[in-house]
Amino acid sequence: MGKRLLIFGPPGAGKGTHAKRLAADLGIPHVATGELLRQAIGQGTEAGRRADEYIRRGELVPDELVESLLAERLARSDAREGYLLDGFPRTVSQARALQELLGHGAGRVDGVLCLEAPEETLVKRIAGRTTCTRCQAVYNRFFHPPQEAGVCDACGAALAARTDDREDAVRRRLAEYRSKTSAVLELFRGLRWPIVSVASTGEVGEVYGRIRAAMGA
Ligand code: AMP
Repeated sequence: MGKRLLIFGPPGAGKGTHAKRLAADLGIPHVATGELLRQAIGQGTEAGRRADEYIRRGELVPDELVESLLAERLARSDAREGYLLDGFPRTVSQARALQELLGHGAGRVDGVLCLEAPEETLVKRIAGRTTCTRCQAVYNRFFHPPQEAGVCDACGAALAARTDDREDAVRRRLAEYRSKTSAVLELFRGLRWPIVSVASTGEVGEVYGRIRAAMGA
């Protein structure tokens, strides 16, 4: 399988966890637009300031803002041989922008992975989630608590909940995902890009095994 891959899944489907591991195993960068945006916010850039208000409300950031951040990221040399794109494209406009980046309409990705899980599972996963403020390791107070509350097992830094993991924002993100991303997947089906679906329920290792098998990796 080639190495330009996309990963899709509703918030809480374990995209971040599995995408990081898959990208490392395949030797390609994990490019997550949510992380690019959070970095821009952390750095206090103009793009970050604009993005912050949308993210806090659980809404999608305007297309042109995300598209330009992504174009910059994919222009870096480590993305030349491939990448695992996480959280993009989320709208039809972004899907078109990706087609352009891939070679003016002629290029295609090598695989589109869709993670799926029931809504109750997703809400519980997100409501309990905390992330390390230094190394970005992810914990969950129901399923994967740290040894000491609020402290990262891996590096000892403080854990924090994301501002958009509040329940009202989560519901909006799930609704946005369903309405907008399904149109993107339809477009990919029309382009005959290879799409595989994997159930993201059960143990993390078990889900990852399914992913590797489905991607033929
Ligand atoms: P994520 O980390 O993928 O859950 O993204 C967190 C938030 O960043 C989302 O709820 C959106 O507000 C914003 N975001 C991330 N990727 C995109 C994108 N491709 N288009 C628009 N907004 C995005």
